[in-house]
Amino acid sequence: MTANSLPDVLEQYDNWLITTHKGPDGDAVGSVVAWAAYAQVCQKNYLILFPDQPASYLCPFLEGYNWAVYDPEANYPFDLLFALDYNAASRVGQEMSAFVAQFPALKVMLDHHPGPEAFCEFTISQPSACSTTEVIYQTLEQLDEKGRINLAMAKGLYLGLLTDTGSFRFPSVSAQTHRMVAHLLDLGLEQHLIHEAVYDVNSVTRLQLHGYAIAEKLVLYPNFRIGIMSLSKEELKRFSYQKGDTEGLVNVILSLEGYDCGVFLMETDEGVKLSFRSKGNRFVNEFAKKHFSGGGHQYAAGGFSSSSLEATLELLQQLLPEI
Ligand code: 5GP
Ligand code: MN
Repeated sequence: MTANSLPDVLEQYDNWLITTHKGPDGDAVGSVVAWAAYAQVCQKNYLILFPDQPASYLCPFLEGYNWAVYDPEANYPFDLLFALDYNAASRVGQEMSAFVAQFPALKVMLDHHPGPEAFCEFTISQPSACSTTEVIYQTLEQLDEKGRINLAMAKGLYLGLLTDTGSFRFPSVSAQTHRMVAHLLDLGLEQHLIHEAVYDVNSVTRLQLHGYAIAEKLVLYPNFRIGIMSLSKEELKRFSYQKGDTEGLVNVILSLEGYDCGVFLMETDEGVKLSFRSKGNRFVNEFAKKHFSGGGHQYAAGGFSSSSLEATLELLQQLLPEI
């Protein structure tokens, strides 16, 4: 079978494996849900495959869909792989990255991170888009498939928009984003329900963890307009940490007057996970890439350190002038 354009591929290949990055966030889950709902509209056989279990607040969005966490022992007989919301095979984590990189089927990337790696036959990369779900929407528009967007797809598309734009506040939001939202609302989307499902599902311990981190663990460097917050494994345990509990915490730093950069460090069994956020003319992705083998967007990036939490904090302090 020959298939040399994306519309041909989408039409001819019937078994879709829909993947996203490790530690799936709202845009990751929103993208796979929207694409799975599109697969249903197109009457394709599909499976959503995650590198690891999504946080519990995102699982309700997956209800009714075929989804699984990657199992190295399992067989995945699919002829088309979608890489959604990531642009390098390494972003699916160590266990799954070789599987993705060597997957014999055709691969299609739909993503909005700068600097995509060349591991897919079709790469749709739009770094100016505010979320991968916006890329998906625009792609469907270009494929003349906009008329097939239904309410189920709208829910996923909106979830990605909402979470990756900090509730429609980041500079990445455009008039086009709002036109897309208008269309989703026209389809019957109850946007307040998505907002509540994402933001009004705090546990008491999660709120207390945030309170503790802000009150006790925030260190400010006014000369550098940077705030750094860190949590050790012991502290996370003390507040009955569940996956996703620290989501959004780093953004609090940016709400401080006179601060335009926030860093959050979290100790895990594997090492220290770093989250960077910035605004204005300050960018963090190159710094995260250079010093913490990470990357991401200009204003939201992540990285990793295999040193101890204390050593990582010390290194960060030395690097403050560079951020
Ligand atoms: P978060 O701080 O929410 O974990 O990540 C923020 C953004 O940084 C993500 O949307 C993703 O684009 C990027 N990011 C996080 N961790 C990594 C990483 O280890 N490598 C790369 N390349 N990007 C990352
Ligand atoms: Mn995204």
